[in-house]
Amino acid sequence: MKAALLEAPHKMTVGGQPDPELRPGEVIVDVATSAICGTDVSIWAGKMPANIPVIPGHECTGTVARLGEGVTRLALGDRVVLNPVTACGVCHYCMRALTNLCLNGGLRGREVPGTFAELIAVKETEAYRIPDNVGFAAATNFVGLYTVVYSQRKAPYIPGGSVAVIGQGSSGLLHTQLAKVSGASLVIAVTRSKWKLEMAQKLGADEIVPAGECDPVERVRELTGGLGADVVIETAGTNQTMVQAYEMVRPGGAILQFGIGPAEVGGIPAQAYYFKDISVIGSRAGLAEDFDRSIALVASGQIDLALIVTHYFPLDDIQKGFEFIEGGGDGGTLRGVVRIGEKG
Ligand SMILES: [Zn+2]
Ligand SMILES: [Zn+2]
Repeated sequence: MKAALLEAPHKMTVGGQPDPELRPGEVIVDVATSAICGTDVSIWAGKMPANIPVIPGHECTGTVARLGEGVTRLALGDRVVLNPVTACGVCHYCMRALTNLCLNGGLRGREVPGTFAELIAVKETEAYRIPDNVGFAAATNFVGLYTVVYSQRKAPYIPGGSVAVIGQGSSGLLHTQLAKVSGASLVIAVTRSKWKLEMAQKLGADEIVPAGECDPVERVRELTGGLGADVVIETAGTNQTMVQAYEMVRPGGAILQFGIGPAEVGGIPAQAYYFKDISVIGSRAGLAEDFDRSIALVASGQIDLALIVTHYFPLDDIQKGFEFIEGGGDGGTLRGVVRIGEKG
């Protein structure tokens, strides 16, 4: 099969790789599309440890092309999205259905072979059928959405509450949409980018805050009667925005720290845990049930995934695609998707 191989930081080649082996309980998926996620870019740039050389990629859709012995959940021809993380099924966390914390698992394209390849073998429990009316490229965003759904399930106060979402990249826009459909009374989108704010408005934000033109903390306080937001969802993962979240949240409120920040962050006002009585909630990947909820949200028309895909690259140009995304794109870039099999 043809696949991309990350050989060293910033060095990706496309060439022949052995076809994956089909084991009992597994299926072979004919990959249609695989998105370039921020995590892939961190791995590519050498900023996140990985088992290099590795076939990168983890946000993948495709068609079930072969069934291993004993497979009962899936059929040939099923259109599926893959769970980006693998789980052993028998460790302390897997036994408690917390597969996102598996002690022996890993992320595709980082610890185990990834999805920028024509074929991939996965356990049948790691592939979820996607709705017929969602294209393969748009459906790669189910991988982002399931992590967003998982994290908001852990947050208090969203129905009827005020929610500030810092960062309106693809994950931030999904958080904005989900907070609105979950019944937040006030969703405030915060970002420096003007066109992302317009997009956030289209997708349900009640108020937008251009972080480059005002003090976003002051503005969010103004919009929330001087108190701050019930929930601040931090999706940008920068030192500055992580500190802003502490200042933007109301006393007694909660920060959902969704963005993967730098290894260490300076300037966190640690006394806020006491004086402001706030909760800070972490979030890692998601669970199978979050794929079910995500698929239901999109199938019922409550969440739009298609708008988030802005760029396409053929597999042969994957190196250029990564360089483009790493460089910040063209000023109108949310998500780039690599087309591999079908022209999804
Ligand atoms: Zn990802
Ligand atoms: Zn496990």
